[in-house]
Amino acid sequence: MNYSRRQAFLQIGKYALSSLVFNHASANLLNALSLEPEWKESRMVLSDLHVHPLLDKWIQSSPWGKQYPLIFKAVSKMLNKTSLDWERCWNAGINMLCAAHFNPFDEFASMPTDPNPDAPRQTIRMLDVLEDEINEKAFGYARLVNNAAELKAALKIKPNDPGFRIAVVHTIEGGHALGGDLKALDKFAERGVAMITITHFFTKAVGSSANSLPFFPDHGAPPPIQGLSNFGRDLIKRMEELGIIVDVAHATSTTVTGILENSTRPLVASHISARTLGDHPYSLYDEQIKEIANRGGIIGVILMPYWLSNYSNVHMSDKYGSLRDAVKTIRHICKICGTHKCIGIGSDFAGYIPGPKEMRQLSDIHKLRELLQDEFNDDDIVEDILGKNVSEFFINHWGVKG
Ligand SMILES: [Zn+2]
Repeated sequence: MNYSRRQAFLQIGKYALSSLVFNHASANLLNALSLEPEWKESRMVLSDLHVHPLLDKWIQSSPWGKQYPLIFKAVSKMLNKTSLDWERCWNAGINMLCAAHFNPFDEFASMPTDPNPDAPRQTIRMLDVLEDEINEKAFGYARLVNNAAELKAALKIKPNDPGFRIAVVHTIEGGHALGGDLKALDKFAERGVAMITITHFFTKAVGSSANSLPFFPDHGAPPPIQGLSNFGRDLIKRMEELGIIVDVAHATSTTVTGILENSTRPLVASHISARTLGDHPYSLYDEQIKEIANRGGIIGVILMPYWLSNYSNVHMSDKYGSLRDAVKTIRHICKICGTHKCIGIGSDFAGYIPGPKEMRQLSDIHKLRELLQDEFNDDDIVEDILGKNVSEFFINHWGVKG
């Protein structure tokens, strides 16, 4: 290299280096001056209407789980394909989790019709187990909130604050948890249960429930009651008196109609899909979605491609289903309701669901956020759908007696 070339080379190097330093400094300066901090710090990341943080632990600590630990661990590994980890969720800035309690042993052991008188006691035990988990394994990451005021206070603390904790709310999946006795409801309300899903896998003398998976038919059962039973009607009335939110997920269309006819307060469909896009008995008709939205309710979209679309079976949804199925459903609900303000997310994660193939951990919720940003091109709308709509609904309606 001759002298002049070397001079030119050094000059270019100098420019390159100084521009690098300048760019870095200016980027830092712009960041410091920026009025829009990180998403995590300024916006809600997720208020999930329906998750199962404790289902595996509950199963493994049951008498059967203790007797056959390897079998239950293998079943969980095979079928429980989505999970949530407290620390990761905390790091991701997830704001609120509605922890759904259901006791699979009670449901399957006495399926499909009889309520089990021991169910309330078992349900209280599930609440205890979750609270122990929050005080031990989730300590420093999550806190239980017992009422709307506590939820509001918890949600004011932003994820960049050291005092930030995920607000955990008790909910119950299946009115049979009352064991056929309305008195149990007072105890549940006292313990901070915010919402109850009226039906679950089996009718159980509460209301007819939709076959939710191909391997869950009410086989061999007597003809199920159509719609809500008298107990189901009394349950809704008493829930509204106590300020417990009514959730229509898992109900047949006749039961959904019954719930709509018998309720006076805004409702939730915590983890559902739209029948127009996924033709399953589990999915809600457009008219039902619109009615819930018109009454100021919330539609939580499940993150389970099998229900969201028309895959021929669970295996195919596992292979091809993705978060795009959820985005399509969100867009559809937005279109038929004329607003996004009625939409939330009810992931059903850690609840033995075959989730979207690109998201197995709840803390990866940013993957859905990115897709929603592409779809709506509006950070406010995305924040509403992922977090604000649900949290504001709970702040406004949990504990309001009607
Ligand atoms: Zn469910």
